[in-house]
Amino acid sequence: MTTRTQENTTMCSIPCNLCDSTSVEIISLKDRNGDYLRTIICKKCGLIWSDPRPRDEKIKEFYSTNYRKEYKGITKPKKKHVYRDAKEAMKRYNFFKDLLKKEDRLLDIGAGNGVFVYSLRSIGVDAKGIEPDENHARYAREELKIPVQTGFAQEVNEKESIHIVTLNHVLEHLTDPLAELKNIWEILKEKGYLIVDVPNAEDLKHNFKNRYHKAHIYTFNPETLVALGERAGFKTVRKNIAPLCGNISVIFQKTDGRSNSNIDLGGNALKIKEKIYKHTSLRHFTSTIPYNKILLKAFMAITEQIAIRKFSNDKEIIDSVVSGKIGR
Ligand SMILES: [Zn+2]
Repeated sequence: MTTRTQENTTMCSIPCNLCDSTSVEIISLKDRNGDYLRTIICKKCGLIWSDPRPRDEKIKEFYSTNYRKEYKGITKPKKKHVYRDAKEAMKRYNFFKDLLKKEDRLLDIGAGNGVFVYSLRSIGVDAKGIEPDENHARYAREELKIPVQTGFAQEVNEKESIHIVTLNHVLEHLTDPLAELKNIWEILKEKGYLIVDVPNAEDLKHNFKNRYHKAHIYTFNPETLVALGERAGFKTVRKNIAPLCGNISVIFQKTDGRSNSNIDLGGNALKIKEKIYKHTSLRHFTSTIPYNKILLKAFMAITEQIAIRKFSNDKEIIDSVVSGKIGR
């Protein structure tokens, strides 16, 4: 039987995806439901991941059929989720719209229910998506009538065909994020853009004990995300940390050089650990963060019910958000 003492030795079943180091430290042994989940941090660069993790084929199977059902308890989005996704879509669009040219082709990898692709297409962008979850991809195709193919990004094999790739809360779910970014480098045209959004390891909105869950295989902070993109052959052109949720958004641009493997993130692991360990449960619940969150959620629930109650179908909700009639 494995004891807690043995668990605390610095062992990992796979090397760091960012810097290849195997020098790691355990930072948590529970997921946000209190179930066993061993989460480690690379001492050299600060990348965080779940180790051991389910086998690749198990993960694929899980994502293609169960993920959204287990994770959000739904297969078809509710009206309020469509409304939220449309507002989020416009935020994402505003972050990079000045870089977008009229004829650019955009691919949203992990397109979910397709609300982002639908919103962009209604503005005139040549956008399409790929999504592993069959229910969501079908909803996008049949209800929203947009080109969202069911599948995984590795199945996209049109080299240098896309001007912009977007990855919204996808990278943290993948078993090999570096390989995925290298794959995207291949499908992007010269000087093409990659826009990545991920949760932030340093975000303090979550109680420390509730930070990790099994659907997130990797957790990044701004430094590790930027370094991963640079290692895959990109340069960083823009970066933003969302004020409310702490999410990291980065715009990368494809460069000629294939890879920068000199990862120098000394001090990053220590910085992350100091932030999350300082933010203990007691501090969390005695701070104003959880209470503000409850108030904000209650306020949002009321305003979104008012905004969407007059609409009978999902497209009308998205159209109204895109045109600025509601929710902007
Ligand atoms: Zn590392």
